[in-house]
Amino acid sequence: MASCEICGTPILEYGEKVYVEGNLITVCKTCSKRGKPLKNQQEIQRKPAMRPKKIEKLDRITFDDSAILINNFSEVIRNSRMANGLTHEQLGLLIKERVSLLRKIESGTLKPDEGLSRKLERFFRINLYTEVESNDGE
Ligand SMILES: [Zn+2]
Repeated sequence: MASCEICGTPILEYGEKVYVEGNLITVCKTCSKRGKPLKNQQEIQRKPAMRPKKIEKLDRITFDDSAILINNFSEVIRNSRMANGLTHEQLGLLIKERVSLLRKIESGTLKPDEGLSRKLERFFRINLYTEVESNDGE
């Protein structure tokens, strides 16, 4: 029987293939939300082929059409964690995420995907996304 490579839950029906930190792994449905599901076909169909790359010049990480990850997400997450007096390990346990993943995100080498970002946002009551058109506030 296969088991989830993230949380170890036995996968009874079928696993989901996701990219986590660049590795293709098989995980359970719950954990698949944190990786990038292999739904390339759907995504290609959803996005027009000739999409203007107008946000490319900004040094920002695009997420979807309406929200983008803030530049200093790693700082914000790190500061929030330290403000709560949590180690990477404790945070990992609390939000059920791998410590290595949290470390990479805090060092800025990895961008959290939507599932993890939203989890961190809820957990710390912070905002990790900003609207594309809200540049004038700065
Ligand atoms: Zn899992």
